[in-house]
Amino acid sequence: MASMRVGDVEVQGIGDGILKTSLDLVIGMERAVADKLVGGTQDGSLFIPVNNFVIRRAGKVIMIDAGAGNTMQPTLGKLPANLRAAGIEPGAVTHIVMTHLHPDHANGLVDDAGAPHYPNAEIVVHRTEADFWMRPHRAGDPDRTKGNRERTAINMKPYLERVHRVRDGEEYLGFTPVLAPGHTPGHTCWLLAASGGGFMALGDVVHLSAIQISHPDAALAYDLDKDQAIKSRKRILDMAATERFAIAGAHVNAPGFGYVVRKGATFGFEPAG
Ligand SMILES: [Zn+2]
Repeated sequence: MASMRVGDVEVQGIGDGILKTSLDLVIGMERAVADKLVGGTQDGSLFIPVNNFVIRRAGKVIMIDAGAGNTMQPTLGKLPANLRAAGIEPGAVTHIVMTHLHPDHANGLVDDAGAPHYPNAEIVVHRTEADFWMRPHRAGDPDRTKGNRERTAINMKPYLERVHRVRDGEEYLGFTPVLAPGHTPGHTCWLLAASGGGFMALGDVVHLSAIQISHPDAALAYDLDKDQAIKSRKRILDMAATERFAIAGAHVNAPGFGYVVRKGATFGFEPAG
């Protein structure tokens, strides 16, 4: 994956692999329109990257999200090997900053036996997200959150003594968490201030970059609250276009980095690098 220099900071993209997904998950857009935006598909299947990012700063090795591990598809779970190939030992990672606790972002925290891939890392997560997934499942919770709650317990178990929960806007490690709920209740974008620039890790505010930057009203079946997710997407894209910070998304197509620009009432993307 590409890297990007933002002011005095180098943001390195490190992939976890490729996720097979489907246009069936797109809500609020005609299938033919969605198909055209992604450049055409055979049967609605499309393949999106699972991107992670590493920032080395002040002696710390900070990674954003942790990939899927071996839990989803055989084309995923490559993050530890790709880190090593980039000269970063997983044991050298000091912090893992989470955008949210979905499987393709958090299941790669541990190996198949539940041992930590990153034994020296502290987990940094918004307290709303941590509270939602790390508490027991309750009557009244959506059924579809049950499985991920159980899995979150496995993912977080080796790290429980080293979980740093942040509040909205509370700066930590040079990052400001910007709550962008909807996809999950505590989904968080992380804004890094660098001298001479800025960078935001979008997480899944944009899940299908070929569709949702130009059509932010298109939601995804995975969104726990799709109306809220649409609002968050518009707010974050507007912020990125206004403040001109670089963005990188967990599933934004290669090179993954770029700038959001305003295009009439909606947005476009200028890839960087
Ligand atoms: Zn995701």
